[in-house]
Amino acid sequence: MSEIQADSSDVREIRINPIVPSESVLVATARSMRPKKAEELAPRDTRKHVDTCPFCRGNEHKTPPLIMAWPETGDWQIRMVENLYPVLGDDRAQSGFTFGLQQTIDGYGRHEVIIDHHEHGTAIHEMDESHLAALFGVYQTRMRQLFESDERLKYVLIFKNFGPAAGASIPHTHSQVIAMPVVPVNVDAEVSNSAIHYAKHHHCIFCALIDEALTFEATLYDRASGAVRRKINVGQYVVERGEKFIAIKPFASRYEWEVHILPLTHQADFLDLRGEDMADLARVLKRTMARLDAVIGGAQYNFFLHSVPHDAQQDAHAPSYHWHLEICPRTSIPTGFELGSGLFVNTINPEQAAERLRAITL
Ligand SMILES: [Zn+2]
Ligand SMILES: [Zn+2]
Ligand SMILES: [Zn+2]
Repeated sequence: MSEIQADSSDVREIRINPIVPSESVLVATARSMRPKKAEELAPRDTRKHVDTCPFCRGNEHKTPPLIMAWPETGDWQIRMVENLYPVLGDDRAQSGFTFGLQQTIDGYGRHEVIIDHHEHGTAIHEMDESHLAALFGVYQTRMRQLFESDERLKYVLIFKNFGPAAGASIPHTHSQVIAMPVVPVNVDAEVSNSAIHYAKHHHCIFCALIDEALTFEATLYDRASGAVRRKINVGQYVVERGEKFIAIKPFASRYEWEVHILPLTHQADFLDLRGEDMADLARVLKRTMARLDAVIGGAQYNFFLHSVPHDAQQDAHAPSYHWHLEICPRTSIPTGFELGSGLFVNTINPEQAAERLRAITL
């Protein structure tokens, strides 16, 4: 783990998330400001095959029913099945239970598992680019099928957990799909705030942030005196750049090693990503995960896709929302201060974290 020495470069400031201003981050890098305990590293299970694992080849009969496999014929490399313990299910067993101020929405939806790779312990950065492109193709195909299957579904969340603290209960590499009848609050906050930004400024805030990251330098002035407070090389937020995709370290990173991947040209809906552009996404993701592995190998993490909801406002939000993948390594345990305040505490200066990730030779 990084041990940034307490020196004049220490940062102690509250950074406001430009997209969701209600979400702010206390960046506090001085040693005394670290209230956090390190999260355990998840030991990597690098075995290629485990006889007792239900997700390994040869144990297909141990999983719930198959939804799809890639390739469709021959030995599968990616396999999608129903979830044995779904958090949302079909129409049965709905209570419709409400009283007074206590209201519920039926837990209608779908919860499915994607076995990312036929090899048990292969990490994302170890997968071939062509395999990763196929994996994102499976995500996209399933997302489209789910939206087309039921118009009550407003959102399809695709995410991956690695490590027990990140919620992975089965060590075999896998991701999950949850289709739901409501728009999750995190996505809703991004969608509505970016729409407000668009109404004011007539451009997508995500595109503006990409432009800003690609600009060479920004100077922060003291508003009262007009003196130069700090010069920031904003290009320093770029972790990886492909032809069609960019990986950026957010200025207000909630997690020490958080990185976001976005399409360079405006696109609201992940379903609009063209097949030929999957390869560049795969390359940028693989390289980003390799950088993270080199710096914080074994860190537990989540990644998830944020795309425009398929609700009544979908067309209205198409110019202002921009789909992206958020990668959130879990290197420290949130404390009562964070849970009680809603303020995230980041103990590593995001500029230095980006620099360390960029410095890795791949
Ligand atoms: Zn396995
Ligand atoms: Zn955009
Ligand atoms: Zn997001």
